[in-house]
Amino acid sequence: MSFRDHADNPYASLSPAVWRGSTVVFDTFEDFMARKSRQPDGYSYGLTGTPTSRLLERRIADLEGARHAVVVPSGASALMTTLMAFVRGGDHLLISESCYGAVKTFAQQWLAKMGVQVEFYPPTLDAGIAGLIRPNTRMICMEAPGTITMEMQDVGAITAIARRHGVLTMMDNTWASPLFFKPLEHGVDFVIEAATKFFGGHSDLLMGSIALNDAEQYAVLRETQSILGQSTSPDDCFLVHRGLETLELRVREQGRKALHIARWLEDQEMVSQVLFPALESNPGHRIWRDNFTGNGCLLSMVLQPAVDERAFGAFFNALRHFPIGASWGGTHSLVAYYPAAQQQARRFSPTQQPIVRLSIGLEDQAMLQNDLLQALDAYARAL
Ligand SMILES: *Cc1c(COP(=O)(O)O)cnc(C)c1O
Repeated sequence: MSFRDHADNPYASLSPAVWRGSTVVFDTFEDFMARKSRQPDGYSYGLTGTPTSRLLERRIADLEGARHAVVVPSGASALMTTLMAFVRGGDHLLISESCYGAVKTFAQQWLAKMGVQVEFYPPTLDAGIAGLIRPNTRMICMEAPGTITMEMQDVGAITAIARRHGVLTMMDNTWASPLFFKPLEHGVDFVIEAATKFFGGHSDLLMGSIALNDAEQYAVLRETQSILGQSTSPDDCFLVHRGLETLELRVREQGRKALHIARWLEDQEMVSQVLFPALESNPGHRIWRDNFTGNGCLLSMVLQPAVDERAFGAFFNALRHFPIGASWGGTHSLVAYYPAAQQQARRFSPTQQPIVRLSIGLEDQAMLQNDLLQALDAYARAL
């Protein structure tokens, strides 16, 4: 495959051109007057995309097995843009308690105040979702495994019920990536990826994508992206193109290490629970095994209870190869902390304890393991 920006351009490259431009210019008055008719795929203004972003959208759609994709400036934007495109005042919206935090905040602080009936459901409700469907239910939001607490959801069971009732479904698929799970094949309408994580892969950009099959919904989404001003930098699109060149190598290798480390952590005395659906001990393991073909690089764990939060300080500050930070999925490992109060404030949570979340990068596995070992020792001494 090579990229040419025009058929008559002899410069064919293996990498895509970065097209910069705030505007699109027109040959004639008539072309300008008819510019809106170029959407959702064409070019009428910089905001709706450039050849660089269209090419990336095509590539992401292919990865997801989708007919269409829209790129937006962040994973958060992909989630909120989809909600803004399809949910209106008077609608009922069902959101899994394990969905990405900003979705829950947006629903509670914005959508509910604009007349949307927002309801949070237990992440493991699965087919029981049928009991929550109302005549005005418009959309069900899913994420599997869930953010931080990693509950699995039976996506096929939920979408079967949604389709029967004419309810739309959106799923955040960032953890597995389309390499290990293709939500559209399981009846999901809108697949969200935080391209910031695995697609970009190098912790140097923010981006999100929405993949879908329905042409009318695609047109609505493109218009919403434009109206909300969600434009994506062509330079960032270039970097995601580059990231995708190594997506499979990175995700498989990081996933392999993450599974190895998760199994090892389960045997450590200071670890009381590893939240990771690829482990046989996980309550969501059967759903994961039957539906996913691999695991992501993000795992959570609960340590032995500490009387004093300073023990967690000893653990975090002892780590030499896990910088402390939110986000994940890049080549560098990361560690993040979610205090007990956050789990206790949730309506449905698998634990009331603090959670330590690890993103496993491409560093040497033994080095990462030794680093965790000495940090767990520091934790034990601080208990
Ligand atoms: C990081 C993340 C997001 C948000 O992505 P940003 O690009 O940081 O806005 C959404 N969903 C999941 C599961 C994530 O991990």
